[in-house]
Amino acid sequence: MNKAQLVVISGPSGAGKGTVCKQLLQEMKNLKLSISATTREPRIGEVDGVNYHFTSKYDFEKQIPADSFFEYAKVYDNYYGTPKQYVIEEIEKGNNVLLEIDIQGALQVKDKYPEGVFIFILPPSMKELKNRIVGRGTETKEAIEKRFNSALKEISYVKQYDYCVVNDEVNEAVASIKSIIIAEQCKVKQDIKNIILKFKEELSC
Ligand code: ADP
Ligand code: 5GP
Repeated sequence: MNKAQLVVISGPSGAGKGTVCKQLLQEMKNLKLSISATTREPRIGEVDGVNYHFTSKYDFEKQIPADSFFEYAKVYDNYYGTPKQYVIEEIEKGNNVLLEIDIQGALQVKDKYPEGVFIFILPPSMKELKNRIVGRGTETKEAIEKRFNSALKEISYVKQYDYCVVNDEVNEAVASIKSIIIAEQCKVKQDIKNIILKFKEELSC
């Protein structure tokens, strides 16, 4: 009955977006992950079509003028983009769609689709952020520095979001995000005309 939500999650690298989103998707069956395209090299264990659609720079750049992306951005020297068709299809089917994207991308989505729900994930501290990026062990020393040095600037964008969630304990962060999505779906502004129409139709049968 409630309108499908477009849920946008951003935050600095290492805040735990991937970890939180994975558990959220397991717990919310009507929440579908939009798999992004990227020109970044796969990390060990990452699978094409599961974590990302891994794409060459040439193919990515060809898809930009073809209007294939809902949004796209260059993040840490690589392209990342949200395939448009998947998002539209899932929203039309009535499913909630999750985008885990960077701030530049989120701001583009906010322009095109302001009724989305914009959530920023924060680490409990900068020290813990560093521990998590280093502890993940997936980046070179140089890439770690680049990501950590961007973090403070990225965090200053939190005010452009509707909600911020501190990822101290994963279970608690996931519970907060679930509550946000459920509350957004119950907002009176959501599809209320259709709900009333449906009740009227039922009564007139
Ligand atoms: P992001 O997607 O934001 O870059 P990840 O989900 O990859 O971050 O998490 C970065 C690292 O921090 C991973 O090693 C992950 O296991 C760890 N991590 C994530 N959330 C927590 C948490 N709440 N407490 C402790 N470690 C966490
Ligand atoms: P990573 O390389 O760690 O997987 O992702 C790097 C950054 O790119 C993260 O901030 C992640 O949220 C962002 N990202 C992933 N997919 C997309 C996307 O489709 N669009 C944009 N704009 N950013 C993305």
